[in-house]
Amino acid sequence: MAAFNYIKFNYNCPCCDNSVDIIAQTHIASDYHGDSTGHFMGRTYSLGDKMAWYLPCDGEFDDWMTWGKPKNGELVCERCYADCDSCHCELTVLIEFKNLVPVKVSKIERLSK
Ligand SMILES: [Zn+2]
Repeated sequence: MAAFNYIKFNYNCPCCDNSVDIIAQTHIASDYHGDSTGHFMGRTYSLGDKMAWYLPCDGEFDDWMTWGKPKNGELVCERCYADCDSCHCELTVLIEFKNLVPVKVSKIERLSK
């Protein structure tokens, strides 16, 4: 599945140590389909935002985490690719999600080649 969304947050880049906006790609809540507001992909969210997705009564609702079915309230982590807006260093970011909300950036590292 190649659909994804973006999570944008401010962080000190581990490469250049500047406080920058970092945009990470996530597969959470991404689908080529959508609702009246548009596709469930290519959207940019901040931490704490509720991500657009199917309604709980829709059959697709449980697929918001593309590699499993989280229980209601379960905290799930995704390792996301990102890059620094300032030095363009490639990064990996661990983001925690709960009930379709990106709640926390728990780890950020330089991508090892
Ligand atoms: Zn940087």
